[in-house]
Amino acid sequence: MIYLDHAASTNVLPSVLEAMIPWYRPERVGNPSSIHTQGVNARRAIDIAREQVARMIGADASEIFFTSGGTESNNAWFRCLSKSVVITDVLEHHSISEPLKNACVSSSSIVMKYAMVWPDGSVNLDSLEQLIVENKENLGAVSIMWVNNELGTVNPIKDIGALCKKHNIPFHSDAVAAAGHVKIDVHDCNVDFLSISGHKFGAPQGVGALYISHRIQKQPWVYGGGQENGLRGGTENVPGIVGIGEAAELATDYLPQNHAKWERLRSAFISELNNLMCNEFRINGSKDHYSPNVISLTIPGVNSESLLLLLDRQDIYLSAGSACSASSAMVSHVLQGIGMTDADAACTVRISMGFDTTESDMLQTAHCIMATAHKLKAMYP
Ligand code: PMP
Repeated sequence: MIYLDHAASTNVLPSVLEAMIPWYRPERVGNPSSIHTQGVNARRAIDIAREQVARMIGADASEIFFTSGGTESNNAWFRCLSKSVVITDVLEHHSISEPLKNACVSSSSIVMKYAMVWPDGSVNLDSLEQLIVENKENLGAVSIMWVNNELGTVNPIKDIGALCKKHNIPFHSDAVAAAGHVKIDVHDCNVDFLSISGHKFGAPQGVGALYISHRIQKQPWVYGGGQENGLRGGTENVPGIVGIGEAAELATDYLPQNHAKWERLRSAFISELNNLMCNEFRINGSKDHYSPNVISLTIPGVNSESLLLLLDRQDIYLSAGSACSASSAMVSHVLQGIGMTDADAACTVRISMGFDTTESDMLQTAHCIMATAHKLKAMYP
């Protein structure tokens, strides 16, 4: 089996699982809010995880709030805004665009303005600044993702942060596809809010975090027992939080090695594909600023759904665009947003590597893609 859909969800890393398991056993039972020893130990485990997650993104532990994942974090941050215009772009994940479309700030609906994007999937900074200047009076925030989950393109986050600082506008970044894959430093990049999700970097599904800078006046998004400093009520998912802490620690310590490995495997895959089918494919996204674990591949004339199904029969698992758009017949809004024709978008697959992907996985996949694409071309000339 070759699983190359880690951007949709990656496996729990062995040492993460090992760190979590004791928290399901009777000897560690306890509610972190209880004042007895069992409760205090659970609270301590959460505090350690908070430090670990903070270190991964260059934040202070007191700026980290645990959530159920990327979607919750992306639904939560804008409750802290006091003005109703949010500048974003059309390539954001649906967990950003949909909640914003349905949200209100100070009893008026949020108005979204879209900065232009380049065909490589990065935000056009001139367009962004122009929108900031034009909307300054009612501008609540700018929200731009760190890494695009379908293309792997890395946005110029430091420049966006500097722009927001210059105009004194809060800045949110969806870093779900970035955490564990590229270096994140929220203070250096002047980010005020950041969303991450555990299951993209070796922790289990159903746990994530929202970073909120000290600078921001905070508002709760889940009312209840006052957990997470009163912002997100509900008994904490202790094993999951321990897991995301451990995964963050590993991601921080091994980022340079992982990054170098993904770069090497990416080059090996692309040059193998070049040898096998030289002019028949295109790699999408930025050539200079990308997260090396994600490869967006278009093979004109080869329908991605047919290709995925035939690869699935060979135990090779890829996706068409993101997992969310892959299940619907709709063309990916990301591919559409960078100006790709519907015909080419329907011929685009995403290959995303994980921590344990090997060179042989990538080379075998290149061969199977070539053979299967040629078979499909012969069947549907
Ligand atoms: N943002 C991005 C960029 C994503 O790729 C995803 C997951 N596909 C999410 C947000 C949502 O995260 P979660 O699955 O943890 O809710």
